[in-house]
Amino acid sequence: MTALRCDATLTFTDANNFQSRLKAFLDEYDVAYRCDDRQVAVELPGGEARFSVVRAGLHLEAEAGARDGLETLRSIIEHYVALFAGDNALPLHWHGDVVAAPTFANFREMRVTQVEDLTPSMRRLTLAGEDLARFDHAEEWHVRLHFPPEGIARPQWPRPTAEGGIQWPPEDQRAEIRYYTIRRLDVAKGEVEIDFLLHAAPGPGGDFARRARPGDVCGMAGPYGRGVAEASHYLLAGDETALPAISRLLETLPASARVEAWLEVESPLDELALPLPDHCHVSWRHRCRGRAPSEQLATAIVEAMPDERDDLFVWFAGEAEVSQRLRKRLKQEFGLRKGQHLVTGYWKREAH
Ligand SMILES: Cc1cc2nc3c(=O)[nH]c(=O)nc-3n(C[C@H](O)[C@H](O)[C@H](O)COP(=O)(O)OP(=O)(O)OC[C@H]3O[C@@H](n4cnc5c(N)ncnc54)[C@H](O)[C@@H]3O)c2cc1C
Repeated sequence: MTALRCDATLTFTDANNFQSRLKAFLDEYDVAYRCDDRQVAVELPGGEARFSVVRAGLHLEAEAGARDGLETLRSIIEHYVALFAGDNALPLHWHGDVVAAPTFANFREMRVTQVEDLTPSMRRLTLAGEDLARFDHAEEWHVRLHFPPEGIARPQWPRPTAEGGIQWPPEDQRAEIRYYTIRRLDVAKGEVEIDFLLHAAPGPGGDFARRARPGDVCGMAGPYGRGVAEASHYLLAGDETALPAISRLLETLPASARVEAWLEVESPLDELALPLPDHCHVSWRHRCRGRAPSEQLATAIVEAMPDERDDLFVWFAGEAEVSQRLRKRLKQEFGLRKGQHLVTGYWKREAH
């Protein structure tokens, strides 16, 4: 397969500082990369992104096997540019294999066809769309859902520009984007099921689910995600936002492995009936007053850490600060290597 390539130059004086911050970020999230004095090369889903220090500033390159991979790489590179050079550095002007198209290759418009309450706090929406085969992936289960402002019957979606950037709809028409997990996918029927936590605070994701009716429309882009490594012992923990992903893990982890999972919900009424193969053990925990959400899950993982950790994998998703602290402890205190853990902040608690 011929590789597709594109590149852009970011003119600025602090390219070395950009590289240092990028490497610190990749280290924190255990993303693999190669580097020398001049270049950082990151292998990402779909291809490779390269960041090279040049006289004018920073030279950015994306190389992928297909158009959608190249689009995803460009969007990840732009995300890093916004983080480490600021929003003002965007948009970038890309050259090479760049085409203007009506939509991004990884984007689908989806229509709500069914609304089902699983518990008082979780609502399952069935969404229908065309050509969903790309979302049928063994490890990438997450999507970015685009929620249009309330009351817009024919939403406008972001489109690729001829310079390889993104043309966003006007501010008042622009969708808000949040990550969700595909709980079930039926490619033949053109349907996905997504389980939404109806958390108390207003937000575009929770609000969309709360008011959802058949016929409502949202966008879906992806898939994204990272799989777990092979191990003989898995420790899994997560709150409601992680229930769809943990349910999929319980269904797919090999029967030869020992699997222990801790799940936090508000009360016994919010527990879900999960498919539980014999090799999986699940403990439900109810949220404790006076303790940060998902903190008791991090404690459960730490308390369950075995002395023998060579063949262990830890998967955790919950509140962002709790996740960050746990990730640090797993690496520093328990010596877990890259590839032995996937600890992710799924949502951020707002400071009060
Ligand atoms: C990879 C990935 C997969 C995910 N999969 C799912 C999924 O399948 N189902 C699901 O329900 N969520 C999932 N999430 C979490 C979801 O993206 C966040 O909860 C998101 O913040 C919800 O957006 P919102 O618009 O409702 O609220 P936001 O606009 O993001 O936030 C508004 C307010 O709500 C609060 N808030 C947000 N989430 C929570 C929460 N979980 N508990 C309490 N308060 C909250 C915020 O602190 C803020 O005050 C996933 C996240 C990631 C990163």
